[in-house]
Amino acid sequence: MLIVDLPNNWIPERKWIAKVVLSRISKNFICNETNCNYWKLKSTQNNGSIILPDYFFMLASKERSIFTPRPLNDELTTIYGNKNNKKYVFPKVFNGEFRCEIGDLDEFIDIDIFGTAFWCMARVEEYKKSNRDIHDRWISKNSHAFRNGYLDRPIVDEMVIYLKSRLEHKFDSEEYLVNKFTQRLTHDVDNPYLYSGYSKINYIKLLLSHTNSGIARKIIINHLKKTFNLSYEDPFDKFDWLMDCAEKEGVKSEFYFIPSQKINFIDCRYTLEDNDINKLMKRILSRGHILGMHHSYGASVDQIKLQDGINYFKKIVGKITDLDNITLGGRFHYLRWNQSITPNILENCSIKYDGSLGYAEVPGFRASTCFDYNYFDIVKRRETKLEIRPLVLMEASVISRRYMNIKCINEAYNYMYKVKKSCIGVGGNFNLLWHNSSLASPKHQELYKSLIKSS
Ligand SMILES: [Zn+2]
Repeated sequence: MLIVDLPNNWIPERKWIAKVVLSRISKNFICNETNCNYWKLKSTQNNGSIILPDYFFMLASKERSIFTPRPLNDELTTIYGNKNNKKYVFPKVFNGEFRCEIGDLDEFIDIDIFGTAFWCMARVEEYKKSNRDIHDRWISKNSHAFRNGYLDRPIVDEMVIYLKSRLEHKFDSEEYLVNKFTQRLTHDVDNPYLYSGYSKINYIKLLLSHTNSGIARKIIINHLKKTFNLSYEDPFDKFDWLMDCAEKEGVKSEFYFIPSQKINFIDCRYTLEDNDINKLMKRILSRGHILGMHHSYGASVDQIKLQDGINYFKKIVGKITDLDNITLGGRFHYLRWNQSITPNILENCSIKYDGSLGYAEVPGFRASTCFDYNYFDIVKRRETKLEIRPLVLMEASVISRRYMNIKCINEAYNYMYKVKKSCIGVGGNFNLLWHNSSLASPKHQELYKSLIKSS
């Protein structure tokens, strides 16, 4: 069994992050509160220990706040792992004085893995910060990860792998876990269909926005076909295609519907009671795929709105399946997320998981991890039951004009695959968001298929 000695302050925080880190390494570990001022890892089967500094929590103690320790900038540290003396380069996020006698049988790693992981995953830097975009979102450019060039790396996961390699070498009688890569294919249903569900005004606007292309003609013809119940093809109706693709890869697709009871401009043009939507949800369930919620725009900071949406979702979905089959969760429309409010109201509404924690404008690792984890409430100082599923990549971040605007398909594929490869490299989860409405062109269909196939 592995034993981790913790300094005896910030106990709930330390126990949470020790569990997050060590549960990926071993099934058998315990935490032990001690008077030491560093982290010490031991084994019941081998002598010696591995010692790590406690820079972050020491600073928090000095400043009497978990929110104020300031991370370093532009500091890199190179350390060597035991397997083939592999080189690891990590950003040094916190530093400080370290005083401890290192014995002959002890090893010292000069990087505060637990403190850094806590700071990154509890999203301490986002808490109550006001510099936000027009949708009230914290943007990537504000983050320490972006400013220090590691947003494209799951550094917490890389540090865990490094720590594991040191433990395997030092305590070779212990049993260690291997983390297996998985991919989660999720789809926010903002626009289920192109040719239906429009108000007259939106229909005219849509036609005007396409006057210079053949699309307008297509829209008119298909709209008429739809009106007269004739068969037609809708470029946004890629639900069965997505399920086919997922089944080929041996995974399930997750479709998140907006549980809005009224059609409105910012949220959606459909309600869950619409005939087409109801049929679609039944089809998704009958094929064994997953239904979730795409919480409405205002719900990320408003518990009443959030709860209203959940009640409506439960009412409608409860009519088509046993609600015990549904794990309540999903993602916020526009990826809206306010660290000081959103996770707490999700927990208050008994939501089990959420996949919003990512950036719209660029893919990457907002919490420096691609593993799911239980959210830690920094104010109430406790682990919650809300599972955070960090969003790693949204297709629009790469191909949309609003964001990176990569038009060349090969270039887009290479960029996206690089992100996926980072998840593969640490045996984590590739949490992908791809809107059903971004698959109208064959080249985007090909891009999606290639991306989910590659490993
Ligand atoms: Zn959306």
